[in-house]
Amino acid sequence: MRYHSTRGNDEAGVPVSEAIWRGLADDGGLYVPDSVPEMRTTDFEGCGTMQTVAARLLAPFFAGDAIEADLAQICDEALDFPMPVVPLPGSPAPAVLELFHGPTCAFKDVGARFLAGCLIRLHRRSGRDTTILVATSGDTGGAVAAAFHNKPGFRVVVLYPRGLVSPRQAHQLACWGGNVRTYEVSGTFDDCQRMVKSAFSDPELSSLLGLNSANSINLGRLLPQMSYYASAALEWNRRGEPAPGFIIPTGNLGNAFACALVRAMGLPIGPMALATNANRPVPDFLETGVWRPRPSVPTLASAMDVGDPSNMERLQWLFPDIDCLRSALTSVSVSDDEIRTAIRTGGDRWRQLWCPHTAAAVHVWESMDLASRRRPWIVVATAHPGKFDTVVEPLAGEAVPVPDALARLLARPASARPLEPDPDAFRRELESLSNEPC
Ligand SMILES: *Cc1c(COP(=O)(O)O)cnc(C)c1O
Repeated sequence: MRYHSTRGNDEAGVPVSEAIWRGLADDGGLYVPDSVPEMRTTDFEGCGTMQTVAARLLAPFFAGDAIEADLAQICDEALDFPMPVVPLPGSPAPAVLELFHGPTCAFKDVGARFLAGCLIRLHRRSGRDTTILVATSGDTGGAVAAAFHNKPGFRVVVLYPRGLVSPRQAHQLACWGGNVRTYEVSGTFDDCQRMVKSAFSDPELSSLLGLNSANSINLGRLLPQMSYYASAALEWNRRGEPAPGFIIPTGNLGNAFACALVRAMGLPIGPMALATNANRPVPDFLETGVWRPRPSVPTLASAMDVGDPSNMERLQWLFPDIDCLRSALTSVSVSDDEIRTAIRTGGDRWRQLWCPHTAAAVHVWESMDLASRRRPWIVVATAHPGKFDTVVEPLAGEAVPVPDALARLLARPASARPLEPDPDAFRRELESLSNEPC
């Protein structure tokens, strides 16, 4: 299998490990595969765990690649935490796919750990030291830092906007030490992203430090996210139940694209509903047919504050015209008030505490008509509510339990270096890093 830019300027294409190493195609497009491999439920006989489902599902995407032989082991290591589908009480009621039992308590652990597994193996072959730059709106930076912490040959540099992530997220971004350096930028997420892009556009700096990005357009993060959709769909199928629909909290459209790709491969997945917050380019596009990205606005579901979702290019590759896209999925914009109500009522109604992102998806289910609610739905829970205690506790009126993984990180000392939102200042910081060994 070879991979091409969504902008279509590279006929020969590249193998998957090169697409993962590069992140973005030279023409600024996103990598997509030659074709969508077809698979049936019978192809998964004997796959009893998330890891074995993932290895089987991803095999065609790694066919002929340099790290094909390592795929099963990468899946084994990266997907080694539980991702249960939990039924909610009552009828009708959705089930919840809990993706927050990894080391940093958000689904970003799946992609970050798989990406690390790939890059570590590629590093063994090339021997090139690598510096991973991540601009984060909260969850990605911690997941990437955790995945690469103290891995020889790698450094991680995290940039996050001061005051725009939750206090526990901030702690989780800055508690690593060792080969991880964290900057607290007095600006917005867009500033952080601009600083990272500017560093990449400097070829001298880029080769001095072996710059690499771990942002959500990287195929190494996207591909493994297909595994939990496939695994849940297979579980439903084995029980003889109709194909479940998924309600997905959506920002940069990575998680949603992963689901769409699994369904396009032929796995039994029903309708997809994308829950967005007040940043609404996706629901507006479905309604009007006009793609109008905008600067992002801050909301309670901050990890979804994306005004120009980059994976839209991949979604349009999969669904080339608006009617295809409209028949494939729906999207609903959820306000902060609706998120608050879903969190406030979650305890009585469902015996659950929701993180603000998951709460947006729960709201989408709760606002469906009865006929729609009667079909099987799985709400995708993208983060543990304990990461957002300052939002959740006052609304739910109870303390949020802290998962062990989070408690371990909160017990570590944290320190972030302050930084102006200035690309040149960031470049000077990076130059000073080159004197430190990986
Ligand atoms: C990143 C994130 C999202 C959005 O996922 P995308 O793949 O960017 O659409 C939703 N919820 C949480 C908790 C996140 O960290």
